[in-house]
Amino acid sequence: MKIFINPGHGPNIIDAKGEKPYDQSYDPGAVGLNGYQEATVNLSIANKLIARLNDHVDLKLYQSGGIWRGPNDYTLKDICEAANNWEADCLISIHAGASNDRASQGISTHYQMMGNRMSTEKYDKGKKLAEITHNHLINEFGDYGKTYDKGLIVDNFQILRDTKCPGILVEIGYITNPLDEIKMQRDPWQDAAAYALMLALNDYLGLGLYPYPCLPNTGKPLTECPYNEPETDVQIGSKGNDVRWVQWQLNLCGFVLVVDGDFGSSTETAVRSYQKNIALPLDGIVGANTRKLLRTVAESCPYREPTDNILMGSKGNNVRWVQWHLNRMGINLDTDGDFGPLPDFVVKEFQKSNHLTADGIVGPQTRTKLKSITRTCPYNEPRKKLHQRNAGAGVCWVQWHLNRNGADLAIDGTLGSATTAAIRTFQKDNTLASDGVVGPLTRAALKK
Ligand SMILES: [Zn+2]
Repeated sequence: MKIFINPGHGPNIIDAKGEKPYDQSYDPGAVGLNGYQEATVNLSIANKLIARLNDHVDLKLYQSGGIWRGPNDYTLKDICEAANNWEADCLISIHAGASNDRASQGISTHYQMMGNRMSTEKYDKGKKLAEITHNHLINEFGDYGKTYDKGLIVDNFQILRDTKCPGILVEIGYITNPLDEIKMQRDPWQDAAAYALMLALNDYLGLGLYPYPCLPNTGKPLTECPYNEPETDVQIGSKGNDVRWVQWQLNLCGFVLVVDGDFGSSTETAVRSYQKNIALPLDGIVGANTRKLLRTVAESCPYREPTDNILMGSKGNNVRWVQWHLNRMGINLDTDGDFGPLPDFVVKEFQKSNHLTADGIVGPQTRTKLKSITRTCPYNEPRKKLHQRNAGAGVCWVQWHLNRNGADLAIDGTLGSATTAAIRTFQKDNTLASDGVVGPLTRAALKK
């Protein structure tokens, strides 16, 4: 079985005269607000897909800008020829969406329309592959997929038209949307994409592979910062990854900064208004206190909540979940997954101070209490009514407060079905109209 993979855009753009048409030797594809390039995410997903399939089928990967031609470049025509000469069984072209409207988000799967050179058989097969793939993508992207499902689109692309085998083109996320841009740089996003594509090929080609789940995704939030927290003060004139950490965290709070590692006046202005929001001294310097509050923004437990009772002698990720939550209160336990005498002591103390039976057993009540530990919310309270499909830092505020009230949501700034369900539950519990819309009354109740 032969699968031809074409991550869109890429290296070595040289025009027909042998000159570089732009001041670059590379077609980045669409570029996000913070400089992340479509060609990079397309290739990462392709490589992850290959990693999942290369023990099982024959694969070829061609990446290109597709518009310009150079000695080491492939035009779309070259790519189509290569796929045809190789007699590929199917083709997958991987892209990310782009729009002038920065609010656009979503996943779409494209297949080739009927036309002169199109047999009914190829059309039907392309459509079938698109349907199978789209279902898997929407599924693997969970709440995001369901909320931003842009559907199947019949289209006219050279890469699908001039190849003999059936093929599809997927657009996974919008690189022009700042939240999508952050998410698509992270492994969980790319793994979900590669895994969905693998499942689709497995179904479509009848490969009979055991569908290993998305192993590298341990449930870590997509909002995990890719930079290490700085250990010293960061301020105007600072440069490098320490500054990127600050910019990245500020963006999660709703600021829109270019993550360029350069602490200039726009970063300083953002730091000052952040400090103002959370009542810190307004000095524009990211010192220990500002860092501590910025850090809480992306903090979300990487372990799944246990369903069994956890007690002395328990082992594994269930115990790590408990240790992680105890540490959030300032206790410094190793998250080693081993429930020994020290966690036992700490749990009993925690239960005592929270009027729970001090038996050292982490059952449902202790877990609920552990989850509801109060912290200062690092997000601005939204001023608008928020309802399903809203996205942004205002949604983070809602998610943060719902979690404080016992929900267990990823703080991803996306108001999808899980968040809406949590809002409805909260409204019901607080004798509010259970409409899933966060207006002034619901906000007031959330803050209590
Ligand atoms: Zn593209």
